[in-house]
Amino acid sequence: MSATIPSAEPPGAQVPPPGPRRWVGLLVAVALVSGGVAYTVEERNQDAQARVVATQPGPNQGTKPPSKTAAATAARRVAVDTILLRRARAVQTVNEALFLQDLDPTNTRLRAAQKVLFANLVEIGFSELGYSQAEERFDESAVHAHSGTTYLVRVLMRYQIPNVDVTPVTTELGYTFVARGGHWVLTDDDDLDKDLGPGAHKEAWDLGRIEVLRSPRVLVAVEKGDAKRGQSIAAEAREAIGEVTSYWPRAWRGSVFVIALDETDVRDARFADEDIESAASAGTTFSSLPGQDTADGTVAGSYIVINPNERDRVDEILLSHEITHVATADLGGYEPLWLAEGAAEYVSWRGIEAISGPGEVGKWEQEVIDDAMPALTSLPSDAGFYQNSADVYGVSWLAVRFLVQRIGLPMVEELYEDMAKHGTDQASRDRILLSRSGLTEATLWVALQDYEPPR
Ligand SMILES: [Zn+2]
Repeated sequence: MSATIPSAEPPGAQVPPPGPRRWVGLLVAVALVSGGVAYTVEERNQDAQARVVATQPGPNQGTKPPSKTAAATAARRVAVDTILLRRARAVQTVNEALFLQDLDPTNTRLRAAQKVLFANLVEIGFSELGYSQAEERFDESAVHAHSGTTYLVRVLMRYQIPNVDVTPVTTELGYTFVARGGHWVLTDDDDLDKDLGPGAHKEAWDLGRIEVLRSPRVLVAVEKGDAKRGQSIAAEAREAIGEVTSYWPRAWRGSVFVIALDETDVRDARFADEDIESAASAGTTFSSLPGQDTADGTVAGSYIVINPNERDRVDEILLSHEITHVATADLGGYEPLWLAEGAAEYVSWRGIEAISGPGEVGKWEQEVIDDAMPALTSLPSDAGFYQNSADVYGVSWLAVRFLVQRIGLPMVEELYEDMAKHGTDQASRDRILLSRSGLTEATLWVALQDYEPPR
């Protein structure tokens, strides 16, 4: 960290809106997991039922002997598996012709888009890449748009970005295949997008042509030709990793993937909504998607996505908040949001304090006590956290500052780990908090009313 970095000025020097809300990311794993699971599982149950109904020999399908249908289905499965294998191998061996070989020759738009995709996938440089068929899906409009032999399938893309993903992770796609001249070909790649989980088919490589900048512990994806800005973001990210290492006791040796594209919808980040004031977000990666093996899925880590309008204002303060989320993402994601956001704010404000001295922090802490606390009647709950117009970030930060003063930072970090792994419901959270701090969420809130920060 350096006091000469102009972008890391105290909050009074920032353009409005002042205070940490300008910096803080909006989304963390918990919100997406709890929001996404019900949706995904429900959707998948519906799809599973639709699939069963549709594959039963009904009035319109009863003329085909079941055995022939099964044989045709098996042949199609093999053909599509072969195409998916070929596409993965094409990326690994940097063979564009092989990647494009199984595309529908009549769809020139898809061909152009797939060339960009291929170049992006090669640019990322996966150490592992594979595609597998999950289950068939039905979409009336896709069938009408293509032909009677349309096969719409949800595809799992399993990959590992070296030095970023500590384990292979999975993302979803929907592919439409049609039979042409006795061969199956890929004819569309977005028919199913609206029915997939949040962020599907919006990975960094799914949008425009990208460029990747690599440095120790930091990978940055920018628009092709935007390398200068990418380098600057990478430099801020390296500073921010230093801050997280200094101010958060968990021994985390991971790397961060920062995505800074000219796009408002990347992965599960949504920056188009002008009501949402967010410069960046940290969004979950899954080794097993919600609904795949378990309802909640298995969190592997987190990528950072930058708001396109904020790409020139990315600094170590913003990134230290987001990287705190990244550095804790693989613990499980069950910690309450007040603890997740409070810890991220704690780290970024320690960075501000190191640059500007304790004055700004003390001033802000008093503002939270005087203005933000009276607007709430309890610790901010997970439900509606990111929609709350009160300064829930400030109050969460204050709660973590209080806990650090009460039990010490190493114990707060242990509390965080326990919560992230086991805080699956309110009873568990209260048990963990009580055993480690002597307080429940309710009594913590009461104690916070009388908190007088040490000066
Ligand atoms: Zn955050």
